[in-house]
Amino acid sequence: MNVTILSGGVGGARFTRGLRALLPDAAVTVVANTGDDLWLHGVRVCPDLDTLMYTLGGAVHEEQGWGRRDESRRTSDDLAAYGLGWEWFTLGDLDLATHLARTELLRAGLPLSQVTARLAQRWAPDVTLLPMTDDEVETHVVLADGREVHFEEWWVRHRAALPAVRFVQTNLATAVPAPGVLEAIADADVVVVPPSNPVVSVGTILAVPGVREALRTTTAPVVGVSPVVGGAPVRGMADACLTAIGVETSAAAVARHYGRRPDGVLDAWLVDDRDADAARALRSEGWTAGSANTLMTDVPTTARIAADALALVGALP
Ligand code: GDP
Ligand code: CA
Repeated sequence: MNVTILSGGVGGARFTRGLRALLPDAAVTVVANTGDDLWLHGVRVCPDLDTLMYTLGGAVHEEQGWGRRDESRRTSDDLAAYGLGWEWFTLGDLDLATHLARTELLRAGLPLSQVTARLAQRWAPDVTLLPMTDDEVETHVVLADGREVHFEEWWVRHRAALPAVRFVQTNLATAVPAPGVLEAIADADVVVVPPSNPVVSVGTILAVPGVREALRTTTAPVVGVSPVVGGAPVRGMADACLTAIGVETSAAAVARHYGRRPDGVLDAWLVDDRDADAARALRSEGWTAGSANTLMTDVPTTARIAADALALVGALP
């Protein structure tokens, strides 16, 4: 069985770990958002790819949700003593080794997809981890005062509290899906959109030319799990991203934003039990929609959520 997942960082990584526990024999491909990537101190940082790699490789800082466990920040602190870097964006000492290794391989001429495969060898995440594209794409946020800042600066430094007017993605219009991305969607038995940020994670992947079309035309069912529970994101500030693009922060509004195939990208939508009304409303509009617990509190619970999502589209083996 081939499962393809379109993922941001923490939410998608946790979901994928649960799905892996549910289906240990499935071939799982994760297409990761790379719009959050940035150059810092001369190294390439790929936050979502790293969160996936560490989470699925058993090395993640569990409570934090990203970064390495048993991490220290001596190098970052020492760089700050030179007045360099961003004091609000920490690069842990161990994490920095990942960025140095990635940068060395990129400088040697390997595309990001091959670099990612090489780094993943060490962590054996038990999934095929693909960047959405090998091209350097970055999400920037246009602020009310006209300034344009990197997404991570808006998200981490300003906690998304400065109203965003819109998001722009450098190079996205000409980006090419990384090798294997379109095939993973076309050849899947089921495609899952996990609880990830619908605007800056999944939205960015969908905007890579060819991806939306691949989802519309794949013979696999496409099922999503709502990242919005009870009218709010579970973690993070996805509501600020939804507001910026004029979408209400509700489980039903996010589903309608993705849309139903063939015009949209989904066949079915799983919401939390607290949003059972949203599932009913969507069903009355012709959607396949269900409700269940969707809080990914631990791996067995998350495996159950993955099972509920697959069951909605009849893809539970
Ligand atoms: P990031 O790249 O690490 O910021 O994270 P993602 O793109 O994966 O987005 C995280 C999204 O998942 C946020 O909108 C959260 O509200 C949502 N989320 C996080 N944990 C849970 C959970 O346990 N259940 C559900 N349903 N959503 C969650
Ligand atoms: Ca992210």
